[in-house]
Amino acid sequence: MLRGRTRIPWWVLVCWLALAPAMAWAQSVGSPVVRVGVYDNPPKIFMGSDQQPTGIFGDLLREVARQEGWTLQAVRCEWQDCLDQLQAGRIDLMPDVARTPERETLFRFLPTPALHSWSQVYRHPSQQVESILDLQGKRVAYLQGSVQQAFFANLLENFNIQAAWVAADSLDQSFALVEHQQADVALANVHYGDWKATSHSLLGTPIMFQPVALHVVSGLQSNPAWLQAVDRRLAQWKADPTSSHHGTLRRWGSPETPHGVPPHMVWVMLAGVGVLALLALTVAWLRREVARKTRDIRASEARLNTILDSVDAAIYIKGTDFRYRYVNRKVAQIFGTPADQVVGKRDEDFFDRRTADHIHQNDSRVFNEKIRLTAEEVNRNLGNDTEQVYLSVKLPLLDASGQVYALCGISTDVTEQRQATEEIHRLAYFDPLTQLPNRRALLDRMAREMALAQRTGRNGALVFIDLDHFKEVNDLLGHAAGDELLRSIAIRLSSSLRNTDTLARIGGDEFVLLLADLDSDRDLAADQALSTARKLKVCFGQPVPLAERPYTVTASMGIAMFTDAAETPENLLRWADMAMYAAKDGGRNEIRFFNAEMQTRAEAHADLLQDVRRAIQHHEFILHYQPQLDTDGRLCGIEALVRWQHPDKGLVQPGTFIPVIENTDLMVPLGQDILRLACAQLAQWQHLPTPQTLQPPSHWRLAINISAKQFHHVHFVEHVKHVIDQTRADPHRIELELTESLLLNNVDHVIEKMGQLQALGIAFSLDDFGTGYSSLSYLKRLPLYKIKIDQSFVRDLDSNTNSQAIVRTIVALSDSLELKVIAEGVENSAQKAQLLQLGCHQYQGYLFSRPVAAAELQAGWLV
Ligand code: C2E
Ligand code: MG
Ligand code: MG
Repeated sequence: MLRGRTRIPWWVLVCWLALAPAMAWAQSVGSPVVRVGVYDNPPKIFMGSDQQPTGIFGDLLREVARQEGWTLQAVRCEWQDCLDQLQAGRIDLMPDVARTPERETLFRFLPTPALHSWSQVYRHPSQQVESILDLQGKRVAYLQGSVQQAFFANLLENFNIQAAWVAADSLDQSFALVEHQQADVALANVHYGDWKATSHSLLGTPIMFQPVALHVVSGLQSNPAWLQAVDRRLAQWKADPTSSHHGTLRRWGSPETPHGVPPHMVWVMLAGVGVLALLALTVAWLRREVARKTRDIRASEARLNTILDSVDAAIYIKGTDFRYRYVNRKVAQIFGTPADQVVGKRDEDFFDRRTADHIHQNDSRVFNEKIRLTAEEVNRNLGNDTEQVYLSVKLPLLDASGQVYALCGISTDVTEQRQATEEIHRLAYFDPLTQLPNRRALLDRMAREMALAQRTGRNGALVFIDLDHFKEVNDLLGHAAGDELLRSIAIRLSSSLRNTDTLARIGGDEFVLLLADLDSDRDLAADQALSTARKLKVCFGQPVPLAERPYTVTASMGIAMFTDAAETPENLLRWADMAMYAAKDGGRNEIRFFNAEMQTRAEAHADLLQDVRRAIQHHEFILHYQPQLDTDGRLCGIEALVRWQHPDKGLVQPGTFIPVIENTDLMVPLGQDILRLACAQLAQWQHLPTPQTLQPPSHWRLAINISAKQFHHVHFVEHVKHVIDQTRADPHRIELELTESLLLNNVDHVIEKMGQLQALGIAFSLDDFGTGYSSLSYLKRLPLYKIKIDQSFVRDLDSNTNSQAIVRTIVALSDSLELKVIAEGVENSAQKAQLLQLGCHQYQGYLFSRPVAAAELQAGWLV
């Protein structure tokens, strides 16, 4: 190049060669060459067109060099390369370096930072960006590989903000991207940003981050004086607002003031950083909470599912489109389809048309009326004829605005319960043998019809039907034949009746016909009732084939009219019963109306009940005692017999009142009183020795009569226990006398009760044996201790061979069942002798003693 311009004379060259070493020496001594690393980062530092460092740092160093008399040698390098060269001692000073612990070991830092800087977000004027939250979904331009981006990305992530990143090769390009709206915002250090924003028509945003203090540093091998000179000058200039340093900063558009960052900016930044840190912490905490809550929800969902799946009810959620959204395991079981395949389907996919329609109607009510619905749903699955009954409870599910979006249903299978309820109803109201209404159903129906008759003025009647000699059928042909006869009669009678009539079976061989809606004229109504009864009589006239033999049975019938002043159904039934007894007394196979004389009897009956009720309250009942003896005349038992100490009538025998009240509820309180009196007496006697028992000892029991009504009372067993506890009577000395009629109904229950009392030590005897409705099969099962031969067989023992045969049979039966046997009503020695001959060894009767007061019995039979 020199050669091309001009030729240099040789002497000039010689002089220059001669003088060059001297000039270099002079330069190295007076003007040291300081090598400065220059990388391209305008406006902070970059290479000027004069190959000297320029920009904020460049101007600064040039000014220091000028004042210190240095020669600056700019070494162009890339950032990392610059640092490497500085470390290797090939560069002396390097500007724009942030302090890090690692760098402090490699380079020399002095206290005064040359420049404060931070990063900032710059936006296109069309973008509204006030806070970091506004960056959701925005396109962010950044300098590829910059620390800034990593930092900022992390920041956005903490706030859970999704931004689209647009990479640029230079800051200039990233600003250009925003300018041309290929990005919405750009990241840049504040120096570059403030310097270039206007030229790219960008605006700064309040979002600042990553504040940093930038230093000029030197390598460890470089002359430390140089860095100290820089530090000293900087400190001077910063302190002096008129210094050229401030001019430099202004020229390059730096926001820095002579004292560093403007105080308000420092506060803004600190506040910003604080808020960001707080937000970041909050976000982190929220995330952790969300994660924890999510875990909790999943765990509780799993628990809930386990519970819902183990419940034996169908639980489901259905949308307003009637499609299942959730079903538990039970639903899946019912449909025979996995739960996830039920979801999305509708009821018509599983049930037959009628079922689906019914469910749909119920669901619609829940959706439309927003009500909690409880309904019985009878469901039939597709292709399956069996019906299942569900009790369904359905609730509407509402969203925040109160709109129904689904329903939650719980359906419990109640098929078995419904069948059981129907069965219970059937058993409670129908006779299992004939399927006719029973006494309870009849009384209900009577109450309704009697009330209706009162309102309409129409009449009605009750026909009480009792088969004649039915016992013979049982005895001669067996119970199966008896049952067959009852069934045939039920069918036959039913077929001859009107729809408005009700035929019921209320006892062994007792049928009752309720005739409603008869003429309002009593006589006409009575005619109607009579003609119906006669029609029934004709029915009876036809033989029934029993045990392959035709058998003709007759019946006695009693008729009572609604107008017969019977106020209650029970009374009307009693009137009809009385009329029926009159028919029986009239020779059987008769029909009788309830009449005036019966009416008188009925009234007397009612008066007596009234009187007994009063007498119970006044404790007018007392007990007499009758001894029972063995062959040798030793006391083997005592029977307690009730007497009524009437204020007007004197001592009233039980035969006049017990049969009247025996079937009424009054028997229960009276029976309780008797039991209490007897046990109290026993407690006094139980420790007394009996004179005859000294040698050998004998054990007597006190026999107490128990009527059916009393025994069947639900609390009978408890009551007996209570009385024993109260009186301290020895249960091993108690014998309860039951009658055969008591055993007719519900034998299992009777046996159970007897067992409970037997467990206490109580024994049972069967009173008046032979007169009632004995069944040998029952006898075998009952926990009996003694049988009492009825006095009617004893009375004519000498004359009636039949009675002798019966007594002999009873004795043989007792022996075979290992029961004791005692004869009642033994009035003379001949009877006693005959009984002894027939094998009966215990006796009770006037021969030994009449029933007497307690004191008298004690005086005569106990010591
Ligand atoms: P029952 O339990 O068969 O009692 C025997 C009845 O025969 C007693 O009549 C007794 O006085 C009577 N008697 C005893 N020896 C002779 C005799 O040699 N000749 C005759 N002709 N009679 C004799 P009573 O005391 O009038 O009792 C009648 C029925 O009243 C009893 O028959 C029993 O069924 C009932 N009864 C008596 N006391 C009670 C009681 O406390 N509770 C209950 N539920 N019923 C009772
Ligand atoms: Mg008795
Ligand atoms: Mg008796």
